Amino acid sequence: MNCNITTIPGDGIGPDIVREGCRVLDAIGKKFGHSFAYTEVKAGGCAIDATGDPLPKETLDACVKSDAVLLGAVGGPKWDTLPGAKRPEKALLGLRAGMKVYANLRPALMFPQLAAACPLKAEIVKDGLDILIVRELTGGIYFGDRGRNAAGDAAWDTEAYSKGEIERVVKIGFESAMKRQKKLCVVDKANILETSRLWREVAESMKGKWPQVELSYMYVDNAAMQLVRNPNQFDVIVTSNMFGDILSDEASQITGSIGMLASASLGDSGPGLYEPIHGSAPDIAGKDLANPLATILTCAMMLRFSFGLTKEADAIEKAVESVLDAGWRTGDIAGGSADRAALGDKLVGTRKMGDLVVAAI
Ligand code: NAD
Repeated sequence: MNCNITTIPGDGIGPDIVREGCRVLDAIGKKFGHSFAYTEVKAGGCAIDATGDPLPKETLDACVKSDAVLLGAVGGPKWDTLPGAKRPEKALLGLRAGMKVYANLRPALMFPQLAAACPLKAEIVKDGLDILIVRELTGGIYFGDRGRNAAGDAAWDTEAYSKGEIERVVKIGFESAMKRQKKLCVVDKANILETSRLWREVAESMKGKWPQVELSYMYVDNAAMQLVRNPNQFDVIVTSNMFGDILSDEASQITGSIGMLASASLGDSGPGLYEPIHGSAPDIAGKDLANPLATILTCAMMLRFSFGLTKEADAIEKAVESVLDAGWRTGDIAGGSADRAALGDKLVGTRKMGDLVVAAI
């Protein structure tokens, strides 16, 4: 198969982790006889520096024309004082909207090898953790009307959802549940928000199509609590843009490190947008300290969802597992200082971790 991938390394650790993702894809291409061609474009802070625009038109054009997009991360302190509309993060919203990728699939999967890095008591996650959060990505409060009054001392952000926007993402929730433990929880704030009541109405109207799926509802404040009290009660969670953003970061921490978690953003047709869930980690940028495994696992999601290359995706995941089994760790998954000291040569940087996964493939 020949696949055209647009890469957006972005800022901070972005270029380092995207480089490792592409090396792993190339190893897969070599082993299984596929060819991955890359077109690198700019978005975020580096695009502001080069063009004044966080998401230049050429970037979005290249993305929509490709078969899939691999994004590192954008943002950093250098651009933090810019006004909202000119900040690097604006590129993320523009990409998601421009590519019409409305469903963000964020698996929170705990590798048994990293159980010690989980901040919860061992008995809570004794059976591991495997949750999928499906976050609505192109609607809600992140895209609604926002502003300030003339005096600048009052501000508003608007949460708005249409039936169609809810239906298409809840459908992905049901379909995902069908491939897993057949449990779908709609997380909302239906005791307060009218949009949440619409989410419930829509989910209720759809459940007849998936009778095998056990559908439930939970208020977001309770869900935040349940995720640390008993995370394994969840299989698939589907929720709005902001609730999904917050809950998926919470879930990521349970798995041990944000440096391990992948994500895929999909629409009805057109290329998918693939990115690790972490940010540009300016505190460790350029130091060969970033964990590239989230990006490498993101590449596995790309192979599975955009190219239907299941055994190739499995091969990446197995390679990551074998590297972890052999005890190799980047700093974020190495545990406390005593564990790190004990690791010795097994404590590795970004590049070496990429080498190890390539070798395992
Ligand atoms: P962050 O995810 O960049 O970092 C949070 C912490 O996790 C830091 O201590 C960082 O060193 C660590 N970390 C993150 N990824 C890691 C990895 N792969 N390996 C090892 N450690 C890792 O979040 P933040 O500090 O809140 O944000 C930093 C910048 O990133 C900000 O400008 C923010 O706006 C941006 N951001 C971008 C995205 C994106 O591009 N999708 C997402 C979130 C934040």
